[in-house]
Amino acid sequence: MHPERFESWLTVDSRGLYCRPGGFHIDPHSPVNRAVITHAHSDHARPGHDHVLATRETLALMKMRLGTAAKLGTQTLGYGDMLQVGDVTVKFVPAGHVLGSAQIVIDWRGRRAVSSGDYKRSPDPTNPPFELVPCDLFVTEATFALPVFTHGDAKEEVEKLLKSSKQFPERAHVVGVYGLGKCQRLIALLREAGYAEPVYLHGALAACCEVYESFGVELGALKSATGAQREELKGAIVLAPPSAIADRWSRRMPDALTAFASGWMRVRARARQRGIELPLVISDHADWRELTRTIHETGAHQVWVTHGREDALLHHIQSTGLTGRALALIGREDEES
Ligand SMILES: [Zn+2]
Ligand SMILES: [Zn+2]
Repeated sequence: MHPERFESWLTVDSRGLYCRPGGFHIDPHSPVNRAVITHAHSDHARPGHDHVLATRETLALMKMRLGTAAKLGTQTLGYGDMLQVGDVTVKFVPAGHVLGSAQIVIDWRGRRAVSSGDYKRSPDPTNPPFELVPCDLFVTEATFALPVFTHGDAKEEVEKLLKSSKQFPERAHVVGVYGLGKCQRLIALLREAGYAEPVYLHGALAACCEVYESFGVELGALKSATGAQREELKGAIVLAPPSAIADRWSRRMPDALTAFASGWMRVRARARQRGIELPLVISDHADWRELTRTIHETGAHQVWVTHGREDALLHHIQSTGLTGRALALIGREDEES
């Protein structure tokens, strides 16, 4: 192992990215002895690890979703706190992605690697903003790593939703959202925009909202959509998992107008395919400009790409004189985007 040669101490094995001097995996996709978890999305936080190190928020979300966060023990690390793990120092800093999401800063023998998990730079009232950490090696996602992806301003998308609900007061606005992150961010953005009516939730979304609220994120009045009268759902905003908006569930809503909040909604064909009347481009991932800007701002000479559309990003990285590498980690989906 040599600190200058990152591939000698940060290796990819059959379970994912492994820090040898620290003795831990980062977001491993199958059970390991020691896992450090960037955030609670299911493609990063998997069940069955013996020991898990994560933020308090991530551990709470894992517990809610998986029943238990680790088989033998969990350890909490707060943002900005440092911890000696094996021979390395680990520090968590905010990634701005979802509640509890952290970039993992690893220092070993004068070299610094940052594994950023998923991240975004645009504002999100439900979690602290992404913090830039200068480093030698930056490990990045590439979910939206094509120049066509520009997410724009989420506030404008929320205005579109509010305008539509005023324009069609007889119709329930059923918005597809991912349960962890997007749901709570959309509610918080609605509140910021002055929307004070109850927001109706599909049953699958309630538990994540409760965890957010338990960490002090205020979401205002939330009601169960299932228990609501048809009459009160006219003109209401109803949030549901993406799978529910196309099925029978949403047909119970009064004249449902279907919307979907996702970075993928930039691609009109995707919206049409899903039968979405009102696509809302709201993403919890960095878009092309944020990805490329962040890579350069870290000052890293080496950039490793974990998952997503890595070809275009690697081309960009190499054309600007940096060293790029595709990790092609398995088991990462672009689901919760
Ligand atoms: Zn994620
Ligand atoms: Zn991810």
